[in-house]
Amino acid sequence: MAKEFKLEHFPQLSWDDAAPAASPAIRGALERALEKQNAACLNDDERFALANCSGADLLALLVAADTLRRDLVGNIVTYVVNRNMNFTNICFVGCKFCAFSRGPREADTYFHSLEDMARKAKEAWDLGATEVCIQGGLPRDLPPFYYRDILRAVKNAVPQMHIHAFSPMEIVYGVELTGMALGDYLSMLRDNGLDTLPGTAAEVLDDEVRHILSRNKLSVAQWQDVIRTAHECGIRSTCTLMYGHMETPAHWVRQLAMFRQIQSETGGFTEFVPLGFVHQNTLLFQQGLARTGPTLEEHLKIHALARILLAGSIHNVQVSWVKLNRGLSQLCLQAGANDYGGTLMEENISREAGADAGQYTSPEDFQSLILEIGRIPAERNTKYSRLQIKLPVEAASSGSEHMPEVA
Ligand code: SF4
Repeated sequence: MAKEFKLEHFPQLSWDDAAPAASPAIRGALERALEKQNAACLNDDERFALANCSGADLLALLVAADTLRRDLVGNIVTYVVNRNMNFTNICFVGCKFCAFSRGPREADTYFHSLEDMARKAKEAWDLGATEVCIQGGLPRDLPPFYYRDILRAVKNAVPQMHIHAFSPMEIVYGVELTGMALGDYLSMLRDNGLDTLPGTAAEVLDDEVRHILSRNKLSVAQWQDVIRTAHECGIRSTCTLMYGHMETPAHWVRQLAMFRQIQSETGGFTEFVPLGFVHQNTLLFQQGLARTGPTLEEHLKIHALARILLAGSIHNVQVSWVKLNRGLSQLCLQAGANDYGGTLMEENISREAGADAGQYTSPEDFQSLILEIGRIPAERNTKYSRLQIKLPVEAASSGSEHMPEVA
């Protein structure tokens, strides 16, 4: 008889431990995914079954995802040293899941000047950052070329800084403000210093759900159009999914399939980032429209499912540490993920919604967290084209018995 294990035991289990207790259908699908290392070998019924699994099947999914992660991207866990710069919290869009935005007359609004943005970028560079991540609210009276002007201000101050900036919603707003064609607008931003785009504002890419989450937000077709056009202009992006609110596992499966499709056309995605819904201070939760954020099972399942369903397409799965606590982010890294994201230096959006993971994780903290789970820490650049293994001084000098294996 197969042994029974509890959910929290999954990091200690091998595939041979977990597989016997799984149902034949789930076990068969996962065995094929492990053998082929490409989710193209799974049919739709199997994808939906994996997204809905529980108990021993969920344990098998988590262990299979970790096994596949090791086979596909090895034992390195990457992070980027960056600074988050949310240049304003004034926004007219009114997303119900957002606790960050403010109306223009509220007392605690702010708007950083171009000089402030340049100064913050310079400070970040001097502290070792290689990337600034710039997003903000959408104020009604924004000067038409303001996003371009932010890029110029930052690049003038620090020409080598990688600028990862502007959600697809901000891009659509910039197009509206300037009257330019989308491709021309993105090319203009690229030529003024835009390096990569955050694939945020995706939330759930289903127009019915979006209508409830935020009826003023860009449509699914607009999100796809911005991302495809950016990739065609040579601007790579991340892709994201917000989970743990009012969506179902079927939305996860369809969204991951959409990302695979876009990736097969453009090759422009650098990583997938599942973003757990932080419910506390949001209208969506207060109006009874959402559950209380993701459960432990959901946190683990979305990272594992992403590793399995994106295999052969998108190689990097990131944990969003600002929305998870330290222990949970380590567990998700053992359920298929391989990237810790950015140090951030300051992060306002999740904190306003009620997350308590802090505003900054130092490179040394990342290194310790990664070593604690027996993996290798490495600093990367935004596009993952440069990795540098980083070990805290005490680990590097303590001898090989403490060193994890590089697969
Ligand atoms: S998520 Fe972005 S667009 Fe939506 S309300 Fe918040 S700041 Fe505005």
